[in-house]
Amino acid sequence: MGVKKKSGKGRKRLLAGVDIGGTKLHVIVARADGTVLSRARSKLKGETAFVPVMKRVVACLEKACAGADVRLRDLGAVGVGAPSAVRADGVAVNAPNMGWRNVPVARKLASLTRRPVVVGNDCDVGTLGEYVFGAGRGSESLVGLFVGTGLGGGIVHHGQLISGENHLAAELGHMIVSVDGRECGGGHRGCLEAYASKSGMGRRFQREKARVKRSLLAREDVDLANVRSGVLSRAYRAGDELVREVVDEAARYLGVGVANVITCLGPDTIVLGGGVIEALGKEMLPTVRAAAKVHVFPPPSFRDTRIVLARLGDDAVALGAVAYALQVVKPGKR
Ligand SMILES: [Zn+2]
Repeated sequence: MGVKKKSGKGRKRLLAGVDIGGTKLHVIVARADGTVLSRARSKLKGETAFVPVMKRVVACLEKACAGADVRLRDLGAVGVGAPSAVRADGVAVNAPNMGWRNVPVARKLASLTRRPVVVGNDCDVGTLGEYVFGAGRGSESLVGLFVGTGLGGGIVHHGQLISGENHLAAELGHMIVSVDGRECGGGHRGCLEAYASKSGMGRRFQREKARVKRSLLAREDVDLANVRSGVLSRAYRAGDELVREVVDEAARYLGVGVANVITCLGPDTIVLGGGVIEALGKEMLPTVRAAAKVHVFPPPSFRDTRIVLARLGDDAVALGAVAYALQVVKPGKR
């Protein structure tokens, strides 16, 4: 399509969102209303050094722009979600999956693309995506919980991401739900991630090897430390006793986490997303809600919060990055 955009008051209307993951890049070019014009993906194949990844991001952006029949310079801004704590100036402070410490993502990408660039933590940005374009549409204050291998979170209040003075706010997977409980790694104990994420479930499977042998998991080629969500959901639906017990336990703890979030922040909406929820959300949601109701304070406040499943799936971070980029083009506006 011939995109001859009017750039009213100098504001360009197309935006790009970049999802930088530990193994792949996902880029979307979209309109300001979230209409996706094109997508491009690229596998990192183990190459996670900072400068090569930035060059891959630019190549992926160019591919996505070509798919939307526009040029890189037609973009109003580029938003990025990175697996890191991110400072307000777009420096990724610490991205263990990438091996990055204090790398200037925004500055580097801005110099390579000559576009304005904003960068946020991937779960923060994914939460913003659900807030603006997904399950949180119409909400004022929203908290996202993303359950995958780990458990990430994000907090949006009246359109603004809350990332804290230490850039680590909303690390909701590391809320303590059991004092001196299971370890999440790095000596941190008893946090939600150690119970409700795939790595947490994995630790339980590893401890119950005898039961695993009698379960449906024994028929699949699985890494017990990190059982794929699809395998979990098949076994769950087939009524596997061990998998049901472990997934239900994860859902119960997730409900405890949700209760703590409601008690602390009183958001109007909590969105549950991530690979585990995409595979098992419908099965887990009733247990999450029931546990949240038991543990929230005061109990009636539960009624004021909707607990819903994410809608954007794989696009959440990239579309959230589009929403984040929109804040640069239209500061202070949703
Ligand atoms: Zn932890």
